[in-house]
Amino acid sequence: MRALPLRPQFAWLEITGFCNLNCRHCYANSSSQGDHGDMSDADWIRVIDQLNGLGVRDVQFIGGEPTLHQSLPAFIRHAHKYAMRIEVFSNMTHIRPEVWEALTLPGVRLAFSYYSDNETDHDEVTEVRGSHARTRANVEKARELGIKMRGSVIHVLEGQREANAHHELLQLGIRDVRTDHIRPFGRGAEGAFPQIKELCGMCGRAKFAVLPDGRVSPCVFSRWMNLGNVHNQTLQEIYDGVPMRAARAELEAAFPHSAVRSTPSCLPDCNPSFESCNPQTACAPDAACGPTGEGDGSAVPRMSPRRSVRYANPSISRTDC
Ligand code: SF4
Repeated sequence: MRALPLRPQFAWLEITGFCNLNCRHCYANSSSQGDHGDMSDADWIRVIDQLNGLGVRDVQFIGGEPTLHQSLPAFIRHAHKYAMRIEVFSNMTHIRPEVWEALTLPGVRLAFSYYSDNETDHDEVTEVRGSHARTRANVEKARELGIKMRGSVIHVLEGQREANAHHELLQLGIRDVRTDHIRPFGRGAEGAFPQIKELCGMCGRAKFAVLPDGRVSPCVFSRWMNLGNVHNQTLQEIYDGVPMRAARAELEAAFPHSAVRSTPSCLPDCNPSFESCNPQTACAPDAACGPTGEGDGSAVPRMSPRRSVRYANPSISRTDC
């Protein structure tokens, strides 16, 4: 049995490739060498308009570091105008007053990565000293402002205190704290070509990602799968297009069990997740839905082998975010 085509429900909007951190595992290869790409503000606004036309109700602004895009507040407000549920996935090191203001709108949530309760541990993952202190301070500020948050604790280094990080976030009153490990994409792949089997198999079905150059891919991890470009096509054309159908077929062949699911699964499976992920339908974003390669029995968490290399790059180790 083949699953029926699904209406799009969720989109990642990767509004920048620029980041003030240089995390070892970054699937987007983002750093201070990145940029915002060639999507103008008007292009992103048009994309949000088209998402609304398609009936998409959940979006996530991601990067790079989306809070460093000067127009993020305007994008949030535009999506909010359509009553979309909005998540901003940030490293929470550097949030401007106008971004804070937009984050306090109803229906907006802040998600962030956190690596350890120990600042040396955390900063070793981000490769920027002081990042832990800034993230921690902004988590407190977000709490004071009553902003809804989701924590994502990622296991990157051997001996990292990720369990303590998880506990600390729960103690801070953040109810939605997930755990993950390195995904073998971008810097996390350490030079290896991305493998389709490392995805979850649900990408491109009811969701897709728009990248900083306007390209559309089935998700933020599967960026080598080019489905079209919003510079010269509408999202409707891309979603219904031949490359998207071919990508779905490729994914269904690689993940036959995902292909026959009769529901849209949990949305979205990877970084973000919203209440539309209904646990009653056996959706477990941190387990079965995760693009982990778990289905082939090789669920060994990946960790950076570079634990011993502390602040090896002097050009980034003291970056002032
Ligand atoms: S904060 Fe996020 S986007 Fe920036 S380098 Fe780290 S993982 Fe990549």
